[in-house]
Order: sequence, then structure tokens, then C-alpha cells
Amino acid sequence: MKILKFGGTSVGSADRMKSVVDLIKKNTEPVIVVLSAMSGTTNNLVELATNLYAKNNAKANEIISTLENKYKQEIKNLYKTETVLQKAAHLITYHFDYLRSFTLDMFTVNEEKAILAQGELLSTAMFQFYLEEIGEKSVLLPALNFMRIDDNEEPDLTYIETHLKQELEKNKGFNFYITQGFICRNIFGEIDNLKRGGSDYTASLIGAALQATEIQIWTDIDGMHNNDPRVVNKTHPIEQLSFDEAAELAYFGAKILHPTCILPAQKRNVPVKLLNTMQPDAKGTIITKDAAGTGIKAVAAKDGITSVSIKSGRMLLAYGFLRSVFEVFERHKTPIDMITTSEVAVSLTIDTDKHLKDIVEELEKFGQVSIDKDQTIICIVGDVSFDKTGYAQKVFNALSEIPVRMISYGGSEYNISVLVKSEYKKQALQALNAGLFNY
Ligand code: ADP
Ligand code: ASP
Ligand code: MG
Repeated sequence: MKILKFGGTSVGSADRMKSVVDLIKKNTEPVIVVLSAMSGTTNNLVELATNLYAKNNAKANEIISTLENKYKQEIKNLYKTETVLQKAAHLITYHFDYLRSFTLDMFTVNEEKAILAQGELLSTAMFQFYLEEIGEKSVLLPALNFMRIDDNEEPDLTYIETHLKQELEKNKGFNFYITQGFICRNIFGEIDNLKRGGSDYTASLIGAALQATEIQIWTDIDGMHNNDPRVVNKTHPIEQLSFDEAAELAYFGAKILHPTCILPAQKRNVPVKLLNTMQPDAKGTIITKDAAGTGIKAVAAKDGITSVSIKSGRMLLAYGFLRSVFEVFERHKTPIDMITTSEVAVSLTIDTDKHLKDIVEELEKFGQVSIDKDQTIICIVGDVSFDKTGYAQKVFNALSEIPVRMISYGGSEYNISVLVKSEYKKQALQALNAGLFNY
């Protein structure tokens, strides 16, 4: 079975949804179709939640009404028959009345998560109604029945596999199985989500759970590009990437993929294709275990990084020092991204300041702590194996005008990372585009 995921832009209007239907109809065997919310909806829902937290009910009602009107218009463009149109109108009233109910009630993080789920619930139901209207054999598989995260907020693949298979067993004989990306339940059974951009993760988890033949991520660009197209002018798509390379790029900021979505596919060795809904015949990118291609393939950048440095004479010739430092981060559930050491100091980076104050307080017991905020990790990915020469030179020649705070190479044979102040990000990405890819 293949898993096909379509992002927000791909289902962003009635016309786009119809094009997606044309695309999925090209499959000759049953497929699972994972959909995001229509583009803009999740952002609107986040804004709604912000206003509900602030008890700004007038603004909240305004956001709800504007969004509801947009959906009312879309269904008019989507359906031809009066019965389906009415069914869709009820669906919209149901979801928007639900959103309105939060303006009257207490608002906590649980309500926020329930609100954020409405976008995917709407888009999938609308899409499936359309398939029904045009006579395609399709069924909705509610993600809330099988997608679950554990007490560490990590997807529970065993649970997902068992429950998804049960859902499929109950619904045999359809050509199109439609489900929501992004949304899930947590360990308490409450509605939760896989973080922003999480529909990619849903597709990968489903692909892994079913050992699918292929996971297709359909979006608004023709695959993973060699650099961030939002930041630099000229970029090109990369035909092939290994799971390791793609995972590294996704984690370090290539927005086309959710940061951790490659891992489930990699675990079960399911190929992932990145394809363009607007240009369905473009090659896109294929991500597999062993990808062809040598040299540096792409760069990506991750913002919002804080570096933490600990300088201590106690580190000199001591064992156990680094363990004690890492344990502080572990206790505060804060992952470390980059690390560099000297004989008397260690610098590392984190991408959340949530527990920074407590972390610093504990680290000060070991030595002098200094913090640099507003940093960006630039990650350079490709085959930079230890026996090759010249790649580091190319990278640093390109970055010769940029002040570099940290450098990391040798952790793997497919990554060189550098840390720069965020104000230098654009300049650094452009310089690398020129130095590594001749743009
Ligand atoms: P979707 O809504 O389909 O999930 P996203 O907006 O999440 O789409 O991801 C696609 C976008 O990712 C592209 O429009 C592009 O601007 C951005 N992007 C950032 N870095 C890259 C990259 N290296 N290659 C391709 N796209 C990238
Ligand atoms: N709709 C969610 C978001 O905007 C999930 C996704 O699009 O992947 O983050
Ligand atoms: Mg996305």
C-alpha cells in the first residue's frame, strides 16, 4: 500500500482539492491519503487560541466568523449536488459552533489542542464528501482512533500499528482511505498533535506501521532543494537523498519536512518521495537507505538556537564531567543539538529556552556559564566522509566573511554544522550557495 500526504497548499481551495483527487485517481491499488488542514487554517486557529487565552472574545468571534465564511464559500465551489452541499454545511456549522463554545468556557492547553485539531477534521471530511459525490469508493479513517503519543510525547508505533490495522480490517474494500495528518491522542486519551508541520510525520508513521511500499509527500515545491528557497534566490531540487541526509536537513530547518518525520520511514526502510502537486510530473526527491550522489548536496538552517558554554578547571583531565553536564539537560527534558569542547570548556546548543533559567542555575555549580541567544545552526549535508578531502575547506572558504561561533564535524560522515548569529543567516546561506553550488 502507498501513503500519499497532501499539505495545506495542496488542499488550500476547492479547486486544489479537485486536482488532488485527479492525482490520487492515478493509483491502481488502494491508497491511504493523509491531509493537512487547508492552508492558513492552523495559523488562524493558533491566533484564535491566543485570543481565547487573553479572554479577548470579540476578536475570537471575529476570527471564527471570518474563517467560517471562507469554508462556506469553499463548499459552494466544491460540490454540485444539493444533498452533499447540505451535509457539508452541517459539518461546517458543527465545527464552528464547537469553536464558538470556547468563548464561553475556561481555556487551557487542552482546549487549545482541541481547537488546533479542527482544521484537519474539516479538510478530510470535506475531501471525503467530494469523493463520495463523484462516486469514488472512499472512507474516512479517524486519526484519533489510532494515532497516539506516549508519556514522552513520542509516537507510540506499536499502538499505532495495532489500531490502524484494526481500522483497516473494519473498512475493507475501499480505494481511498482518507485520514487526518497532525492530530493524535495523548496518553490520557485527550486530543493532541504532532507539532506544527506534523502531517508529514503522520504519513511516515502510517507508512512505517503498515510497511508501505512508498510514502509520498505532496507539497508546493518540486522536492528538497539544495538551499532554503525562502532565503536565497537560486536553488535546485535534489534527486536523491539518503534517510540520514534527509533526516539531518529536516531536523536542521528544511521546512519541506517535519523535523523528525524521516525516522519512522527509515526504521522500516520505506522510501519517501517528495513531490509537487502543482507540477506532478517533476521528478522531485526520492529518499532511500542508500542514495546515490557524492559531495555536498544541500544546506539548511535552524533558527531560535541558544548556545550554553561552561568553563571549568574541573574539566581538566577529569572523567564524569561531561556526564554531569548532560544530566542537567536530561533532568530538564531539553535536547542538545550541537556540542564542541576544549580542554577546559564545553559549548552546546539547545533549541528551547523553556528551562534555561533552571539549567543555568544547576550548571553554575560546575563553573562559569555564558549564554548566547538568537543563534542559527547552519547544517551542510552530503557525502563528506572522513576519507575525503577538500569539503571543509570549501565550506570555510565560503564562510570567510561570517563570524562563526561553533563548528561541528565528525559526528557523522554526512554533516558539517556551524553556529552563527541569526543576523548572519541570510548572508551565510547565500555565501554557501555561491561557494558550494556555484550560484
Ligand atoms: P506543506 O504545507 O505542503 O506541508 P510546507 O510549507 O510545510 O508545505 O513545506 C514546503 C515549503 O518548504 C516550500 O514551499 C519551501 O518554501 C519550504 N522549504 C524550506 N526549505 C526547503 C528546502 N530545502 N527545499 C524545499 N523546500 C523548502
Ligand atoms: N496543519 C498543521 C500545521 O499547519 C499540520 C501540517 O500542515 O502539517 O502545522
Ligand atoms: Mg509542512
